[in-house]
Amino acid sequence: MDSVVARKRLEEIRDELDRSISVLEASGPRRDQAPEYPQDPADAGANLTETQRSAAMLTVARQQRSEVLGALNRIDHGSYGICADCGAKVPEGRLEARPEAARCVSCQGKRDRLRR
Ligand SMILES: [Zn+2]
Repeated sequence: MDSVVARKRLEEIRDELDRSISVLEASGPRRDQAPEYPQDPADAGANLTETQRSAAMLTVARQQRSEVLGALNRIDHGSYGICADCGAKVPEGRLEARPEAARCVSCQGKRDRLRR
């Protein structure tokens, strides 16, 4: 992928993540502090699940944002599209699907297995 195109896409993804993150950050605590209507236990349970879901989404969004920032940084240093682990070229198709990808499929697979 052309690095100008990649940068544009990454910046769009970053802006979108910034919006999602601020929405998620704003929505969680406020609702908990000031319930607008009396809650029965079933509602409380549902809200807890929703809060947990927001927290999980926030974690994922923040992680993806740091990956996107890393990719923008690699564009600046001319190492975008090169696998961070083995130095091979990351296939076009993978970058199309995940412009923030820092590794080729096999190296990312190894990392994911290590992390679990
Ligand atoms: Zn690799």
